[in-house]
Formats: sequence, C-alpha cells, structure tokens
Amino acid sequence: MISNYSTASFWLSQLDPQGARDPLDGDRDVDVVIVGAGYTGLWTAYYLKKNAPELNVAVVEANIAGYGASGRNGGWVVGYVAGLEKYVSSLPSAEKRDICNVLFDNVDAIGYVLQDEGIEANFHKGGVIYGAARFPGQVARQKAFLDGLYEAGHTEEDCWWLSADEMSAKVRLRNGYGGVFKKHAAVVHPAKMVRGLADAVEKLGVTIYEQTPAMSVKPGEVVTKNGVVRAPVVVPALEGYSTTVTGLGTRIIPVQSLIIATEPLSESLWDEIGLKNREAFCDGGRMISYGQRSADDRMIFGARGGYVYGAKPRSEFSLSDPEFRPREGLMHDLFPMLKGVEVTHGWGGSLGVPRAFAPHAVFDKRSGLATAGGYVGQGVGPSHLFGRTLADLILERDSEFTRMPWVFGDRPIGRALRRWEPEPFRWLTSRLILSMYEWEEKLCQENASASWGKVIANAINNNLGKLMR
Ligand SMILES: Cc1cc2nc3c(=O)[nH]c(=O)nc-3n(C[C@H](O)[C@H](O)[C@H](O)COP(=O)(O)OP(=O)(O)OC[C@H]3O[C@@H](n4cnc5c(N)ncnc54)[C@H](O)[C@@H]3O)c2cc1C
Repeated sequence: MISNYSTASFWLSQLDPQGARDPLDGDRDVDVVIVGAGYTGLWTAYYLKKNAPELNVAVVEANIAGYGASGRNGGWVVGYVAGLEKYVSSLPSAEKRDICNVLFDNVDAIGYVLQDEGIEANFHKGGVIYGAARFPGQVARQKAFLDGLYEAGHTEEDCWWLSADEMSAKVRLRNGYGGVFKKHAAVVHPAKMVRGLADAVEKLGVTIYEQTPAMSVKPGEVVTKNGVVRAPVVVPALEGYSTTVTGLGTRIIPVQSLIIATEPLSESLWDEIGLKNREAFCDGGRMISYGQRSADDRMIFGARGGYVYGAKPRSEFSLSDPEFRPREGLMHDLFPMLKGVEVTHGWGGSLGVPRAFAPHAVFDKRSGLATAGGYVGQGVGPSHLFGRTLADLILERDSEFTRMPWVFGDRPIGRALRRWEPEPFRWLTSRLILSMYEWEEKLCQENASASWGKVIANAINNNLGKLMR
C-alpha cells in the first residue's frame, strides 16, 4: 500500500492511499526493460510508447513509482542542466543559444504534457530567484554567475539581476542584497507528477512492476528478486541508487538532500514573505538551499547535502533527527517571520552525482544498454528532456535532443562515464567540501564586508573547482 510509503516525503503523504502495483512474478521477455520508476525511467517509457506504440516496455521498481528522489524533491523545474557552462564552452554563440532554447522549452513542454495527460501536479511557471545574495561578498559571486549564464547562451530576456528593492518586491528575506532572476522555471508537486506519470505510462501499455528490486543489470537482462526480465534494450534509470545494483559500478554516487515543510501559512504571513507568483527561490550561500511556496501555502525549504561512507543511498529520515535543525535555522535566518510557525514535516532523499558533475544520456547500440541521469540535484526538469532523448536514441530517431552535447551515443557506458575514486577519498572529499562551505558561510556572517573574507571564499571556490574536475 502506498500508505506504507507515505512517510517517505510530505509530498507522498498528501496523496490518497492506493494499492502498490503487483510485483513481477516470474521471468519475462520484452523489447525494452527500464529499471527504476522515477522521472527518468517513466519519461523514457512515455516517449518510447508515444513514438513506437508497438513496443513491449516493462519497468521494474524496487518500491513504488516515485519512492526515490522523484517523489521527494523540492519541486523546482528549471530550464537548465548542471554543467551547462562546461558543455557549451567551446561552441559558437548560435549553437549555445539553440541549446539554451531546448532547455527553456523543456519547462513548457512538461507543463503541456501534464495538461494533455490530465495530471494535476500544481505546475506553475513563476520563475526562480536564483541565489539571493545576503552578504556583500555574495553579490560579486552571483553577478559572476549571471555573466557565466550570458556566456553560456542566455540573454537578458532569459535572466537578469534584481536589485535589493526589485528582489524584495518578489521575496522579502532578511539582508537581501539582490540576486539573479531566471524566468524559465516552474514549481510542481513532485509526487503528484511522478505518480500521475506512472498512471499515464501504464495507460499507454507499459507494465510497471512495483516492489521488484533489481539485483543486477547487464546487456540483455535484469535479474530481480522475483524473476529475470530479458530484453535487447536495458535502461538502468537508478540515479542515486545506481550503486545498489551489480553491474553499474560507482559512476554515479548518491548524495543526500534534506527538506522541511511548515504548516500552511496565513495570507498575512505570505504578504510579509512575498512569492505571490509562486516563484522558486534559493539563497546565494554554497550550502545549496531551495524553496517554494506550495499550492497549499506551506513553505517548503531544503538545504545542505550529506554523503554516506561507501556511496550508500539513504531513504529513511525523521523530523526529530538533529540534522534537520540547521535547515530550520537557515530558514528562520532567511525568514525571521517564520519563527513560531510549526514545521510539520522533515524528509530527505538521495540524488545522483556523476564524476563529471554534469548529466549524461548514453546509448550503446552494441550492448543495448542505455542510461541517463547524474543531474546533481537538478533533475526534475532535465529528466524529462533526458528521458525523451533516450527514447529517441533507442528508436534511432535523429532529433534536436540527440544532438545535445550531453549525449554520448554509441559507446560503452564504462567508457562514456568515469568512475569515482575509491573510499576513503570520496568520503574525505565530501567532508572537506562541507567544512569549507560552512567555514565560508561563517566568515560571511561574522564579517560580511571583510575583503580577506572574499579572498578566502574565492580561494575555496577555485580549489573546489579543481577538486571537481
Ligand atoms: C531532497 C531532494 C530535493 C531535490 N530537489 C530538486 C529540485 O527542487 N529540483 C530539481 O530539479 N531536482 C531536485 N532534486 C533532484 C531530482 O529529484 C532528481 O534529479 C530526479 O528526481 C531524478 O529522477 P530519477 O528518475 O533519475 O531518479 P529517482 O527518482 O531516484 O528514481 C530511481 C528509482 O529507482 C528505484 N530503485 C532503487 N533501487 C532499485 C532497484 N534495485 N531496482 C529497481 N528499482 C530501484 C527507486 O525506488 C526510485 O524510484 C532533488 C533531489 C532530492 C533527493
């Protein structure tokens, strides 16, 4: 029953209880088998069936559709992919612009499919206040980020700088010095979207086996606890759970993000906060915050990552865990008017980080293995584009999507994607990065205008850049 899964996130807890789909009960032969019923797996299935209705497509899912990051995230749908700047750096301006347009159109395309399929997922396109600077030291960094977007093919029509006054007309957070506004962004109820998508895919004729954990993935077959599914095309779409299945190695490792939700807020409190157009928002700190005003008027606020030694995904969280207190603290620091408001939910999930820190879509025709993911925490929008791309690659359709720079066609996954370094290097690096971020935040807070603080912050950033290359 989905009610067993409802504690996984506030979003899943809001859905009506319904039965989980039946597990696999023996061996099967199909044309395409997809492992993982999150957005990536389901969008791939959706576009496969839309373009080739005759295909026999099956999805195997360890829990229920949306149990992973897709049913737990912050609900930002942004017209962007992690690593865009790196992917387009050597391309001519016109090509950069075309690529950005594909990313921007992707946000609207999701809205259209939801509408066409009758999926009520509270999709609303209000843009995003991206990286609100709260200390003078953050202003220059956020402006440099904006310049980087322009360099990557965005224009002043797509994103622009908000002065402190312009920002406070959209959101009133403590110490707002200004920030970047990107208009190609929406918010969504993530669980309604993924569960609705699973229903839509099923209506198209895809069989989804829930409660069916895969144990190994290799060309031609997926071995699950309940039987073997054989298919000429096998699509692992496991993102932050990739390390749990034999055959995929440590090319994508799980990193955790944690979120809280408040009780529904009064209209007068929202008048104080702003976000009238349900804009998504985040602050300019490097602790990676993200928030939205939910359709039922709660503040949804996530921040900060975590990494478990050995690259193990984590799915269980409880609001009483001490790790939620810093998130509450940051939310109260941004929005002092929320002190005294009840935080009703706290949850988290595992997202996937590839060694290149940028997502990929790969189809190796010889082995029949196809995969996409590695969104580095920005996958709600991109997973639609990448699922659609995988479908085109599998169906050998030449499209604007298959020509994107993140598509590594026809080469073994092992050669397209680098492995992560072994432990304890990964764990130590994650500790180092988090400590540096915390230190920088403290420096900013204690002495916002100290020029040596900026120098140290930049040094941190430059060294992080080297570490991540
Ligand atoms: C807390 C949090 C907040 C986030 N906020 C945002 C945001 O606001 N905006 C944004 O763009 N991105 C956000 N992300 C990232 C985004 O949610 C993901 O990039 C996206 O959902 C990835 O979708 P997916 O289908 O690739 O992976 P998942 O949704 O994780 O799907 C993988 C599926 O595989 C299943 N599975 C696991 N093991 C097995 C197995 N052995 N066999 C079969 N199935 C298995 C899981 O149950 C899961 O359903 C966030 C992520 C988290 C965790």
